[in-house]
Amino acid sequence: MPIYEMRCPVCHKKVELLVSGESSPQQLSCPSCGHHQMERMMSCFSYHRSTADRLGCVAANRPTGADFYRDERNIGLRTLKRLKDSGCEPSIVDFENTVERARHYVKEELQK
Ligand SMILES: [Zn+2]
Repeated sequence: MPIYEMRCPVCHKKVELLVSGESSPQQLSCPSCGHHQMERMMSCFSYHRSTADRLGCVAANRPTGADFYRDERNIGLRTLKRLKDSGCEPSIVDFENTVERARHYVKEELQK
């Protein structure tokens, strides 16, 4: 059964509801005020980007904004891009292990 994000048009409460195949939004009731006819909302979704995809979006010689590093998977990405652009093909496993240790270290430092 899928989970839908619903909104009550009366009290504006947002809830996630498990919806069986036979249920329509009109049959669901608001857990807060009991109003029927919940409205289905558009939910955010995510998708997986491979390292190759992310590398394609990185400009090695252009600084990136702070938002770039909010996704910790981007740590080390510019270095990897520069290595590849300069003809070096680092051992991906060794490189990833090193970057993963750096990510772990940064996380621990930020939690102090
Ligand atoms: Zn309601």
